[in-house]
Amino acid sequence: MSDHDSQPPDPKLPEEPSDRGSATSSVHAGELRQQEANAITTPIYQTSTFWFRNSKEVTDYQEGKSDREEYGRYGNPTWRAVERKLSALEGGEESILFASGMCAATTTFMALLPEGSHLIVTSDCYRRTRQFIEQYLSRMGVETTVIEPSNLEAFKAAIRPNTELFFTESPTNPYLRVIDVPAFAEVTRAADVKMIIDSTFATPVNHRALDDGADLVLHSATKYLGGHNDLLAGTLTGPRKLVEPVRKALGVLGGIMDSHAAWLLLRGIKTLDIRMERHNANGLALARYLEAHPKVSKVFYPGLPSHPDFEVTQRIMSGAGGVVTFEIDTDLEGAMRFIDSTTIPYQAPSLGGVESLVELPVTMSFWDKPKQERLALGITDSLVRYACGIENADDIIADIEQALAKV
Ligand SMILES: *Cc1c(COP(=O)(O)O)cnc(C)c1O
Repeated sequence: MSDHDSQPPDPKLPEEPSDRGSATSSVHAGELRQQEANAITTPIYQTSTFWFRNSKEVTDYQEGKSDREEYGRYGNPTWRAVERKLSALEGGEESILFASGMCAATTTFMALLPEGSHLIVTSDCYRRTRQFIEQYLSRMGVETTVIEPSNLEAFKAAIRPNTELFFTESPTNPYLRVIDVPAFAEVTRAADVKMIIDSTFATPVNHRALDDGADLVLHSATKYLGGHNDLLAGTLTGPRKLVEPVRKALGVLGGIMDSHAAWLLLRGIKTLDIRMERHNANGLALARYLEAHPKVSKVFYPGLPSHPDFEVTQRIMSGAGGVVTFEIDTDLEGAMRFIDSTTIPYQAPSLGGVESLVELPVTMSFWDKPKQERLALGITDSLVRYACGIENADDIIADIEQALAKV
């Protein structure tokens, strides 16, 4: 120790009352109070491996007598802080970080779906997740049934003796369907099916899926959790007995998050609650404005009474988020003219960052889909997805107004 009187890190976590609000947990949960050199922030542990001072330390570690890291693919203290923060926010026992949201989904499926098992998913689902299910899981002898989001009767009918998992986003992309998680949980519990919610569009600020009966909650932390359009990451949270097999699979499959990206995520989450407040307010203001606009034929936003899941949203969520999907009364050229005339959002895939982003699903994620299939999914030429950032709502709306005037 040097002559300045800094205290060494205290590996004990401060007691955190579990009834703390999400703003307090975003800032404080999971982080050691006492860091090296009296720093406030958790350091980036930029190391690939961790050394043992003698063989006794190795054997103690192997016998589970010491709580420490061994090799970078299995753990890193920077990740641990993020994992604990997420667990506190979601109200779950354990969390894991992954290199991306896709990696969280694929690793979880590989770990929890034995050969010959059955999976149920919803139709309005992230395209790459669907692709993994169709092209890879099928090769491992896993069968899948696709149901309409929110169709509880179809869900009951799809359950088989070998059904292992039910996987759905909530809200879904791009139509923002909200799953009645408590109602589905009654059915999954009775049938011994595990329910995984991809809560990327909700975040634990808007919906705590585990409290409502989900077994696991997954995120593309690339979106709201990171929040700054500057990193890719995935997360999974739930009870230890379900999370541990996935952590073991991650150690084998290797899609781990880099410690620098983990540190950026930790920093991003500190402002999650306050950012979500603005994303929710902007989303609602934009949706209301669009619904009243004569050139807009349809608005999909679960915070509007016109949305099919408005009632569920009011009951289980505390905000409807920043993404608004809408259809302009025009053709592809008109829709392109609209997008090209906006000056605040960037035209880009993704959502959940401080910068607003806008896209035409037809030219972005559905570009290579045959037209008939795309239209069957409701992806028309003039469907727009606007992901509100945290700018001023008045500016976002004024910009949309002048862009719609050019359609
Ligand atoms: C972006 C996204 C994913 C994929 O996450 P990546 O971090 O891009 O790999 C999965 N699910 C949803 C709902 C998403 O929006």
